[in-house]
Amino acid sequence: MRRIAILGSTGSIGTQALDVIAANPTLFELFAITGHSNVALLAEQARRFKPNMVIITDDSKYLELKESISDLDDVKVFAGMQSVCDMVAMSSVDMVLTSMVGYAGLQPTIAAVKAGKTIALANKETLVVAGELICSLAEQYRSAILPVDSEHSAIFQCLAGEQDKSIEKLLLTASGGPFRTFSLEQLAHVTKVDALKHPNWDMGAKITIDSASMMNKGFEVIEAKWLFGVQKEQIDVVVHPQSIVHSMVQFTDGSIKAQLGMPDMRLPIQYAFAYPNRLPNNYDRVDFTQLSTLTFEKPDTNKFRNLAFAYDAMDKGGNMPCILNAANEVVVHAFLHDKIGFLQMSDIIEWAMMTMPFVAEPSYDDYVACDALVREKVAQKIG
Ligand code: NDP
Ligand code: MG
Repeated sequence: MRRIAILGSTGSIGTQALDVIAANPTLFELFAITGHSNVALLAEQARRFKPNMVIITDDSKYLELKESISDLDDVKVFAGMQSVCDMVAMSSVDMVLTSMVGYAGLQPTIAAVKAGKTIALANKETLVVAGELICSLAEQYRSAILPVDSEHSAIFQCLAGEQDKSIEKLLLTASGGPFRTFSLEQLAHVTKVDALKHPNWDMGAKITIDSASMMNKGFEVIEAKWLFGVQKEQIDVVVHPQSIVHSMVQFTDGSIKAQLGMPDMRLPIQYAFAYPNRLPNNYDRVDFTQLSTLTFEKPDTNKFRNLAFAYDAMDKGGNMPCILNAANEVVVHAFLHDKIGFLQMSDIIEWAMMTMPFVAEPSYDDYVACDALVREKVAQKIG
């Protein structure tokens, strides 16, 4: 029995992770769940799974949650981020799925790593902001980090049985999102409704916008650098609109391995939960006779500048990826609230990267200060 804590159980990844646990009751036990604002769903999940603990990170919703499940005697209810950090360090937790969205995932991920837990990592922003810190802590506290992001799970699966020194290149695939074929002129006029329609994946709002702007792929490049210890030159992005090839590894002898599957996040979640085992399931299978084509093309960084910014931020290092992430969180929020246009998101991120103070070797406190400052300045700029 692997005892799992799900951070962000009310989200897209969180709910799919619960499906995986429900399908394998003899292998996985749900120890704790956390949500931020969706009290009704969190309460429903508590009722269905009866975990030992339920935590709502927005303290103001504590009483509402507590009252709605007051009849569940064995389920303890807590509130706030500190409760999440305390919970992940408990001896009853074997594995922590980090599926909360954004910078908020950093603090509890650090707590779980310091407690030596196995991390199933969905919250890529953690590695974007503080990859160097997380990786050194993971080594120090012997915490294993298993990827949940589909591309990184694909690479991880391709690397099974291989040596790190045999990697020549990682080929990260990208769907290209809903605006892949749009001109800059068209991009200037797209709305949040257009951007929220992803062709292949059904995800939370923030990552759906990040996918449309290709910031998601930029983040994944940085995520890959930290997860697999490769250099910038060893990570290529290949646009593959069908999302069947989830990523590839090219080895030093020129051989390439790819992992394929239908676009379904339950598969990489299940792979991380059961690692190193594979579990049977009844998810849809790829039928090659039904696939008309698998195509591959170069990403256009003139149209999707965020991808180039991510490479620049990774190259510069220090707190630059933290600046990139904080600026992105604010502009995505503003775009989702109709305050700025689609292309303005990149303009403002570029401005933040050029003007915010650079710190070459940031400590944890530097990241916290940088995140707060960038949010404040970018929000002011948007007005
Ligand atoms: P969702 O928006 O669907 O869910 C986000 C979760 O985080 C919810 O449980 C939400 O709680 C919680 N949350 C929101 N704000 C906060 C906060 N300030 N503090 C603590 N918890 C908070 O996102 P996704 O599930 O799509 O994505 C989650 C993470 O996984 C992201 O980092 C994303 O990049 C990554 N990921 C997602 C993929 C996908 O297919 N969805 C694929 C690969 C990676 P509530 O709803 O109760 O407010
Ligand atoms: Mg991905």
